[in-house]
Amino acid sequence: MDRLGRLHARIAAQRNDWLHKLSTELADMHPVIAIEDLKVTAMSASAAGSIDAPGKRVRQKAGLNRAILDQGWAEFRRQLEYKCAARGGAVVPVPAAYTSQTCHRCGFVTADNRLSQARFNCLACEHSDNADLNAAKNILAAGLAVWAERPVACGAEVSRAKPVRARRAAAMKQEPTEATKANLAPTR
Ligand SMILES: [Zn+2]
Repeated sequence: MDRLGRLHARIAAQRNDWLHKLSTELADMHPVIAIEDLKVTAMSASAAGSIDAPGKRVRQKAGLNRAILDQGWAEFRRQLEYKCAARGGAVVPVPAAYTSQTCHRCGFVTADNRLSQARFNCLACEHSDNADLNAAKNILAAGLAVWAERPVACGAEVSRAKPVRARRAAAMKQEPTEATKANLAPTR
């Protein structure tokens, strides 16, 4: 391996080590963790900027740790998921839409609540917070709501739940067939 190759290998090892330390620490402290269900490609795109929003989230992504997380997001999530699961918890993904535009205190949603990358100022109730913290509180609240509604894996619940799922699956299977028949009929 040449010098550059060794350097790349060392950086990769350090990054992996850091991700493991962070995911273990988080899973130890919080077995149930809510995360934004971000597409990795969307994150890369927003960091680089796009035609619609040039460099919109670049400042937010400042800092080495953030850069490492962005690069290793999928791996970080994978680590969190199995480590939380091993502790009897889970990673609960929530839709990323509007988490940064919603006021955590009153629920008012508008892009104008977010005047800068750093500050959140609610136009309805004047709640003011660090923008990332406000978004994180929304994500946590949404995640905990999903977690509270989870099916409990005890015998009675599962045996009652299964037939419902089977019926739904059967109904969903039939619908496209019916629709296809209906669409094909006039052309014949
Ligand atoms: Zn508000």
